[in-house]
Amino acid sequence: MSIAPAAPRASLPSTPTDYASLIGGNRVGAAGHVSIERRNPAHGVVVSRYPQATARDVAAAVEAARKAADSRVWSGMPGAERARIIARVAQLIDRDRAGLGLIESLEVGKPIGLIDREIGGSVALWEYAATLARHTYGDSYDQLGAQTMALVLRQPVGVVGMITPWNYPLLIVSQKLPFALAVGCCAVVKPSELTSGTALRLADILIEAGVPPGVVNIVAGYGNDTGRAITEHPALDMISFTGSTRVGREIGRLGGEALKKVSLELGGKSAHIVCADADLDAAAEKVVLGFTRNAGQACVSGSRLLVERSVATRFTEAVIAHAKALKVGDPLDPQTQMGPLVSEAQRDRVTGYITAGSDAGAKGWSREAGPEAALPGHFVQPTVFTEVAPSMSIAQEEIFGPVLCVMPFDSVAEAVGIANGTIYGLAAGIWTRDLDKAFLFGRSLKAGTIEVNTFLAGAPELPLTGHGQSGVGHEKGRYAIEEFTELKTIQLQFGSAPL
Ligand code: NAD
Repeated sequence: MSIAPAAPRASLPSTPTDYASLIGGNRVGAAGHVSIERRNPAHGVVVSRYPQATARDVAAAVEAARKAADSRVWSGMPGAERARIIARVAQLIDRDRAGLGLIESLEVGKPIGLIDREIGGSVALWEYAATLARHTYGDSYDQLGAQTMALVLRQPVGVVGMITPWNYPLLIVSQKLPFALAVGCCAVVKPSELTSGTALRLADILIEAGVPPGVVNIVAGYGNDTGRAITEHPALDMISFTGSTRVGREIGRLGGEALKKVSLELGGKSAHIVCADADLDAAAEKVVLGFTRNAGQACVSGSRLLVERSVATRFTEAVIAHAKALKVGDPLDPQTQMGPLVSEAQRDRVTGYITAGSDAGAKGWSREAGPEAALPGHFVQPTVFTEVAPSMSIAQEEIFGPVLCVMPFDSVAEAVGIANGTIYGLAAGIWTRDLDKAFLFGRSLKAGTIEVNTFLAGAPELPLTGHGQSGVGHEKGRYAIEEFTELKTIQLQFGSAPL
């Protein structure tokens, strides 16, 4: 994987980029379609146009994937060959990383200077998933009796409908698609209507890498029509969804009724726990990163700070000092560390929570706006609330913006009680030099991912899984093999011919 040089200043395109769907190996462009226009969230300029998939497009995409799955053109290919193609996709994403990064900066509002690392994360996911294509296997049983033997095969689940959110567009597709492909599945992918660019650009890469026609189909569209049509399609074997808990619950219900396999990666309200004995400077920096990265629009965002009471005032001041120094501004400027929120609706939702926090009696600090105030975009300044009761809505609900709730604690038990006191269970961070405490927290916290003395690190080898209402199932790591396969038992009874 190459390391890109420091990003230069990016500019807005003079005309929007037109994208096409991928259906049965063919690119389906704008002709005969309504376009979904995407405006850059900092400047308000239209930067992308996606063809909105019709019901007929969804049906064609599912049919193409079904045909590819039933023909075994992909699952019947030796794992070594599938691995080579998936690894080739990784190389091509790496080759095109600057262009892919620019698309995400323009569509999501991600700072151009920070995006390369994220695209690198997608490269790493495809690289790792390629190795799993050669490590998908079942078991054999030779101790069932003198004339009995059994095989347990691990076979691809079939055709997977993948529905993804707007906040990490290429990364989240890359947490699903290469893993499903590695075990031999086919797919119909629907990215978010707000940020479909990189998923549709990925289509070119898949074709160039040699993924056979029909194996992957990518369509753009809104959740209520395209997303729903995919979820309800009877020819799909599984739905792999990442998004809000609200929509996940609906998809889970529909999947349950149709008896389809469903995997759900949902929202979070992650606690960042800081003990008095921690490296407080390092912790303060990561706490700020944890709630402002991608303007707080991350499922694993560390949106609650639980800090030991003896250092609470000092540590909160350090957090505010770091947040004050953040470079909030135009995402096209390579110096910018935090851009705008993705949409007007998201900005209104976050400012609504900030008002609710103040109304409930919490004490709020917000960074003063700088030159970015002159831009028409949906900026919300980093905001830190103290005097927060764990029961307040700002401490219970996923805000999905740069808002931190600070709550002091006196004991490990109290911190665990507060941390586990929401419906979510996605991630948690712990800062301590005391190993006993680290293990105690690690054991007791309700969260699928727990990081100690670091935050937002991650690796393709490590599974992502949500406890509580943060999800069902898991992604990434070798555990993804289980997710995208099903077992088949073959039991053999043979004669007793003498040897
Ligand atoms: P969302 O649930 O509104 O939409 C996610 C996707 O589902 C989009 O593609 C959307 O078009 C589609 N969709 C919406 N309604 C649908 C329906 N009725 N049927 C089928 N599809 C439908 O989420 P969002 O606003 O795009 O993303 C933010 C949410 O995603 C947050 O809650 C965040 O925590 C969560 N998220 C979770 C993870 C994780 O790994 N756990 C990662 C990223 C984001």
